[in-house]
Amino acid sequence: MLNREHMPVSSQDEGEQQLYIEDLKNRIYGKGLKYHIVTYGCQMNVHDSEKLAGMLSEIGYTETGRQQDADLILFNTCCVRENAELRVYGNVGALKSYKQANPNRIIGICGCMMQQSEVADYIRQTFPFVDLIFGTHNLHRFPQLLLQALDSNHTVVEILDSEGAVVEHVPTKRTQGVSAWVTIMYGCNNFCSYCIVPHVRGRERSRRPADILAEIQKLAEAGYKEITLLGQNVNSYGKDMDEQYLFHNLLRDINEIEGIQRIRFMTSHPKDLSDDLIRAMAECKKVCKHLHLPVQAGSDRILHAMNRKYSSKYYLDLVEKVRKAMPDIALSTDIIVGFPGENEEDFEATLRIAEKVRYDSAFTFLYSPRKGTPAAKRRDQVPAEQKKQRLARLNELINGICMEKNQEHLGKIKEVLVEGPSKNRKDVLTGRTDTNKIVNFKGSPELIGSLIMVRITEAHSWSLEGEIVKND
Ligand code: SF4
Repeated sequence: MLNREHMPVSSQDEGEQQLYIEDLKNRIYGKGLKYHIVTYGCQMNVHDSEKLAGMLSEIGYTETGRQQDADLILFNTCCVRENAELRVYGNVGALKSYKQANPNRIIGICGCMMQQSEVADYIRQTFPFVDLIFGTHNLHRFPQLLLQALDSNHTVVEILDSEGAVVEHVPTKRTQGVSAWVTIMYGCNNFCSYCIVPHVRGRERSRRPADILAEIQKLAEAGYKEITLLGQNVNSYGKDMDEQYLFHNLLRDINEIEGIQRIRFMTSHPKDLSDDLIRAMAECKKVCKHLHLPVQAGSDRILHAMNRKYSSKYYLDLVEKVRKAMPDIALSTDIIVGFPGENEEDFEATLRIAEKVRYDSAFTFLYSPRKGTPAAKRRDQVPAEQKKQRLARLNELINGICMEKNQEHLGKIKEVLVEGPSKNRKDVLTGRTDTNKIVNFKGSPELIGSLIMVRITEAHSWSLEGEIVKND
């Protein structure tokens, strides 16, 4: 077992990994090896899997959609919710038979769950057939770790305690069609009392503006029309850097890149949504008029216990300011139901804030205790049944509001970026408005990747139906 406590990451490390890639290339050349990656959790994780896939492709592995055909199976895990964690344990256990069928098959587990050392230990002890375990801070070292796993009879484990510097130039195999994700910063400094992210993703580290702009320039040249900037709290981009360059500066610079037509970003913490940023959003034509602004709760008592660092009044004033600058902006949010100590009055405050803001969409969650967070230690946990009932009440309210908001679009003509065929309906394409509304309509596959005008003919709570008016 290998355990690196802390090692600073440098461009030397970047070059070193390239050498391991070359080594692996020679080693597997002509063997026709295949990989399969299973990803749990958020867009950051999906994008990390794109990097793992990028490294594997460069080594010479090809992707397979079937686990049983893969010579290398990787689980990129998430620890934000208990359900996802339990699923990982079940699914890793099921890999035992695959390993028995082909002992040369490499099984690796990485991501946020592994960044918790007790979980990594549990996996190693319970599933000794796992060959490789690594965390989030050393994803770029995957080629070196894979080489060690290929040569070892034991599980190779490498979990770094701290995050080190940002590593650039990791090969990336993007799975998104017309739209690409670009991570602009890593980690989070906020320590919301229910959240495990700062414990597993480390403190905020912003990528250098020049590196981000160069990556987006290349994406534009490759034909991507839309980019989504990712970070746990993109609004605080740049605050850890010496130079005076913040998120609004970055948005304005990306807005100038030819070929990029839409800029999205997530996630935004309300306390960091500055006037400069609101102004940049309003003034930059390419910045989509959609803002995901997690509120989490409507009760000031609960917001304080969550360590969210704003009040409901602050949040509502912010929404007013945003809507004054961009009257047609769509707002979405995250809401947690059943945080410890939440009583009926607190929950009704959440219903009230949802009614006042009238979100275009919302992700609603039952509070799930995460070991290692202050909220999980509280004794006043809300009974499961009560949480479920409250969630159902909240969802009913949200669904009704979203339906009404979508009905406002009936008969209107919207510009839609065509993303691809509808998953379930033949001859139907799907795309999004700049306000992030999903629109389904009949059309030919040649339209994929173009911006077209669509008349809205039908509204549902979570999507719209339409018909093409004219091509781009
Ligand atoms: S802002 Fe809060 S909820 Fe979001 S990642 Fe940071 S700690 Fe977690």
